[in-house]
Amino acid sequence: MEIKVRLELVASLQDGEVNINEILHAVGKWGREATAKAAEGVINAYQKRVIELLCSGQGDGNWLPHEARGSKGQMCLGCAYRSGGKREPRKLRTELGPLSVETRQVVCAVCGKRFRVLGPLLKIEPRVRPTVELKRMTAETMTDLSYRKGGGRMVALAQVEVPRSSGQRWMAGGDWDSLQEGAFRAKTWESLQGLMADGTGYKRQGSAEGTRGQLRLMMGVTGSPRRLVPLGVWADESWEQIDKQMLEAKPEGILPPVVAIDGEKGQEVLGNLAQDIQRCQWHIPHQLGFALWEDGLRKPQREPYIDKLSGIIKIDLPEGEYRSIPKEMREQIEGQLLESRQSMDALARSFKNKGYHAAASYLRNAGDHTFTVVEKWLEMGYMPPKAISLLERVMREMGRRIKKIGASWKDKGVLAVARVLMTRIYDPKRWQQYWSKLLDLKGRCAIKDATIAFAVA
Ligand SMILES: [Zn+2]
Repeated sequence: MEIKVRLELVASLQDGEVNINEILHAVGKWGREATAKAAEGVINAYQKRVIELLCSGQGDGNWLPHEARGSKGQMCLGCAYRSGGKREPRKLRTELGPLSVETRQVVCAVCGKRFRVLGPLLKIEPRVRPTVELKRMTAETMTDLSYRKGGGRMVALAQVEVPRSSGQRWMAGGDWDSLQEGAFRAKTWESLQGLMADGTGYKRQGSAEGTRGQLRLMMGVTGSPRRLVPLGVWADESWEQIDKQMLEAKPEGILPPVVAIDGEKGQEVLGNLAQDIQRCQWHIPHQLGFALWEDGLRKPQREPYIDKLSGIIKIDLPEGEYRSIPKEMREQIEGQLLESRQSMDALARSFKNKGYHAAASYLRNAGDHTFTVVEKWLEMGYMPPKAISLLERVMREMGRRIKKIGASWKDKGVLAVARVLMTRIYDPKRWQQYWSKLLDLKGRCAIKDATIAFAVA
């Protein structure tokens, strides 16, 4: 069907006085109101016409699928109706602003059920207030604020005026589970060259002073083309619980070469998700600093040791196809690896001799998993040299943003923010797909022949 809408606008201007801002302000304000009113009118007219068609036997049984009266779960596709009158208008929160639309009822001549047509006709879920697009705008604005102030979306949302509290409620209650869908397919896992686990603390809202929540993330990285695959975010679940869930979700029999961990207590359980563990090379010197502090060293005393260890563990792997790397270069890396191992050992011994027992035992523990990536490269040749450092950066960035954005949120909200952020930043295609599936836009409503005419009086 076609619904014709005529808009007429009389703009009254003060001759010789008016400025551009006043024109834009007035026309803009009218435009926003007119858009909302036009949408309301189109919805009302469509609803009315469809009911007329159905009641005169010209409709289609698929237009109003409904549960048959008195029989739960059984759908009635009866195609004969009579009008059942109007009920109070329904308020909708939409990307065009709040709408108030008519709700009309019909009575099914087949099963006798009396029901409102608005929901089934326009695919509006019962009790859902905000529209899909408004929810998307809100989710994006709320995860934009702290790192990209301003921008078009902020303005768009300001026009619709979503109160912060509603926004937070929609975010926390959102169905974000399916954002990680597809991340556990066998094809994806076969292409993973590394897994990364990291955690970050956040201040909990509404709890006693000083209690902190732990947010934990897992991500995968593929070889070429290099792509980050968000695997999951958890709030206040132990690495052991996370490992269990990951084992259940991941395809059987596929083990990526390494899982990179930052050395947080309890993380070693994740070792069963990959062939081997790589300790985060960024964290190792930092954690040595902490051990030396425990041994009573002051900052200026600690620093040379931290620098020394950073130098020891740094082994640059050549870029490019492993097979095309000259043999001498591989032998050189092998030599470097041996040298680094010996230096680390010597450093641990010197700590022991000086009585720095925390530092000595830290180095000995970390030593096992410090050079896994280099070993894998020498052994199999396929570990992308930069993957691990790339993931380290990802986790630091995520941590910073979540700490900032999630600061005023309750646990469920922090988790929602983290999931949305992770997908938006590292898998933006997935984010688009998620919404286009929900929006289900197939061009079933289009505006044709819009004209606009002017007359001056
Ligand atoms: Zn029926």
